Amino acid sequence: MPSSRARLAAVLVAAGALPLLLGGAGCGRQERAPRFSAAVLITVDTLRADHLGCYRSARDTSPNLDRLAAGGLRFARCLTPLPRTTQSLACILTGMTPARHRVRSLHHVLAQEHVTLAERFRAAGYATAAFASLPYFPGPQGFDQGFGDDFELWLDAAERDVRADTVTAAALAWVEAQGDAPFFLWLHFRDPHRPYAPPEPFRSRFDPQPDGPTSDSLIGAGATGRDARDRTGRVQYGVEKLPARVIERTIAFYDGEIAFTDQAIGAFVEGLRALGRGDDAVLVVTADHGESLGEHDYWFSHGDFLYDDCLRVPLIASGPGVLPQVVEEQVGVIDIAPTLVDLFALEPGAEMDGASFAAALTGSAIQGRTLFAESDRTLPWEHNPRFGGVAPRDPAHRLRGLCASDRRKLILDPFPADGPCLELYDVARDPGETADLAREARHAADVARWSAVLARIAARDHGFAPDPIDPEMRKALEENGYLGGE
Ligand SMILES: [Zn+2]
Repeated sequence: MPSSRARLAAVLVAAGALPLLLGGAGCGRQERAPRFSAAVLITVDTLRADHLGCYRSARDTSPNLDRLAAGGLRFARCLTPLPRTTQSLACILTGMTPARHRVRSLHHVLAQEHVTLAERFRAAGYATAAFASLPYFPGPQGFDQGFGDDFELWLDAAERDVRADTVTAAALAWVEAQGDAPFFLWLHFRDPHRPYAPPEPFRSRFDPQPDGPTSDSLIGAGATGRDARDRTGRVQYGVEKLPARVIERTIAFYDGEIAFTDQAIGAFVEGLRALGRGDDAVLVVTADHGESLGEHDYWFSHGDFLYDDCLRVPLIASGPGVLPQVVEEQVGVIDIAPTLVDLFALEPGAEMDGASFAAALTGSAIQGRTLFAESDRTLPWEHNPRFGGVAPRDPAHRLRGLCASDRRKLILDPFPADGPCLELYDVARDPGETADLAREARHAADVARWSAVLARIAARDHGFAPDPIDPEMRKALEENGYLGGE
């Protein structure tokens, strides 16, 4: 949608001039402009796309999200630039890449100088609120910018029992208090993040014998402190092989957490309708990153590698006037903020790296994006064979990826003991990324060109955000294995 039309739409919506039809009398459905006075951004922690029904999961994990997708826009391929929580949420809330906002480790803080989506909505007169339950999160991390007093953060360490239904209830109470006022609301559900421990009936939904051992229970048994970290590392990198039955049950629990979260999202959507705000709100549902469930011998974790199990996340947009369809073009989570800025005619941000996909909401074509990605290093790292036993202290040691719009992906690993290596996958033909094509002659020109791009990006690296972490917090994180390489 051209921004002038969006701006006009927002002015008319703000003036209460609903229903609003742009494009003149008698225009077709595709020309009907979406009309919204509220935006809800839902992020689910650790939710890989292909474990939702609408992304062809083998299990019925997500009837509510499937219904939302069927009535709205589902993006077939959406990627995060960095598959860890803090870093990816910083991208979603600002529309910037990690290289620009420099939030590149779990404990980094988004600098005040960066303008968040909430700040843009608030500046335009919208009420704003966030309800976020986050796993192992050190603090607000600068994500409270633009939310004022309505920033409700439940940190895992303090509130282990805060689950998806609690987040939904708190959010609906806030929506009710807003009456008819325009608002921007951010919800973050943490449930699919480890430990996978869904409540009944979701605990036994995908495994008829849920009381046996899982990956989490085996790691926890008798291991504390450093021992637990070593044990986690051995399991995580496949050094210690888990029995097939344990793997099966662990994945069933992960899917159970997804189904539980799906139910809470369904209750939120239902509640929004009951409060009379279902007809003027746009909902965007995505995830901060996925989860590796054993692909490439990387077990029940995320962050270290750039394969699709961790990079690919769902992206669903729904609301009145949104044309139901599946968009095949590749987009990134960094495109969400520019899209909402465009749809609501907010003050555009010159520093945003993403691009608006608002045109897709009314059925217009959009360009597939070329996207960049970088890894973090999950801790403990000692058992990761690709680190060669050397502490990965330098940001230059991170994996970097170029995800082309044609679904080929080049990964540069600068760290192995035997020198830098390149991997190339054609994800369209090989979704499991098992056939490395980097040495095939037919791809040689692209590999040379793209690796030069990755090298240039690495050379221009802006480094990390300042580390404001206090000694007490650092100790707590280290004890939980979250700062181990430093
Ligand atoms: Zn996360």
